[in-house]
Amino acid sequence: MQGLRMPDLKIPSRVLMGPGPSDVDPRVLRALGMPLLGHLDPAFLAIMNDVMEALRGVFQTTNRLTLPVSGTGSAGMETVLVNLLEPGDQALVVVQGLFGQRIVDSAKRCGAETHVVEAPWGEAVDPAAVERKLGQLPGPVKLVAAVHAETSTGVLQPVRPLAEIAHRAGALLVVDCVTSLGGCPVEVDAWEVDAAFSGTQKCLSCPPGLAPITLNARAEECVRARRQPVQSWYLDLTMVMSYWGQDRVYHHTAPISMLYALREALQLVLEEGLEDRFQRHRLGAQALAAGLEAMGLQLLVAPELRLPSLTTVTVPAGVEELRVRRELLNDCGIEIGGGLGPLKGRIWRIGTMGYSCQEKNVLLLLTALEQALRRQGRETAPGAGPRAADAVYVSSRTGA
Ligand SMILES: *Cc1c(COP(=O)(O)O)cnc(C)c1O
Repeated sequence: MQGLRMPDLKIPSRVLMGPGPSDVDPRVLRALGMPLLGHLDPAFLAIMNDVMEALRGVFQTTNRLTLPVSGTGSAGMETVLVNLLEPGDQALVVVQGLFGQRIVDSAKRCGAETHVVEAPWGEAVDPAAVERKLGQLPGPVKLVAAVHAETSTGVLQPVRPLAEIAHRAGALLVVDCVTSLGGCPVEVDAWEVDAAFSGTQKCLSCPPGLAPITLNARAEECVRARRQPVQSWYLDLTMVMSYWGQDRVYHHTAPISMLYALREALQLVLEEGLEDRFQRHRLGAQALAAGLEAMGLQLLVAPELRLPSLTTVTVPAGVEELRVRRELLNDCGIEIGGGLGPLKGRIWRIGTMGYSCQEKNVLLLLTALEQALRRQGRETAPGAGPRAADAVYVSSRTGA
């Protein structure tokens, strides 16, 4: 292979409005390019501390055990489950889409007897159904797990009522916050969530590669009380914690540049302020929904359950789903997502996450989508979509 020469790395210009990753603020990209430090260098240890502290702010928690796991959001899921579950434990998973199913798969691989309460894709699970199910299960249930923001459907599952129900049954509540953290309220302490995990490339607008997690004292105690060692060496929190905690014992080399990036991304979140950031996401989703509906398109999810970070819209009859996505990407550089599982070919998933959630992007997407649909013979009143979205933005500024 000597002499092999690849063409220069060339990245096409994109607007990332799919289900993640989202666009990254230039400040975060600059942080990625900073010189490396050793992973035990005191200057780097200070950065790790900053990241942990900022994560507590974003998760709205005082939990000691709050850190970014090396790996994407799925590594966060596995970390929480492999540390909390032991073979023979019972787990109950709230499933309303693909990511709930992944928790089921992961819990089973931990050797847990895994039960499910399901809702059709596009709906949320009724907490009363979770309570009924817990009442029917024979032995103690170790944990109840739910996806807060189901990225496969665009549904926001209310979490707070689940905490009370889980605790009454003596179970911990574990929440997947991958698509909610940084995009809508995630109040770990106020909602009494025992363990939560997230990812960096959705509403935190950082490249993929780290998985913020947080465990409260109850969950930590559960890890300490294990009868058997965690079956994953890499994700064993007892060992990971001795690197992130006071001891600073080498376990695995931290992804140093990613931690610079996450520190900067979290700094951006805290500079904007959580409340303003959530409002920006709510507004983006409202404007997008108004635009899509003005174009005669139908949204999959009932208004009260819609995610501020991801909107799912039904593909109209007679329109080729994939062709629209391909044209948005090739002609306008805009990425959106298609449907998964039972929704494959039936919906588009449009993200308004983090840095991508901007007025100019919403207007651009609606304009481009109008053209793509028109090319397939689906005419709407010219400019109806962007105009309706613009009205939402304008009225938000005038307070009308
Ligand atoms: C993206 C996502 C994940 C998985 O995260 P990866 O970073 O792709 O591993 C898990 N849960 C939800 C809800 C997600 O949106």
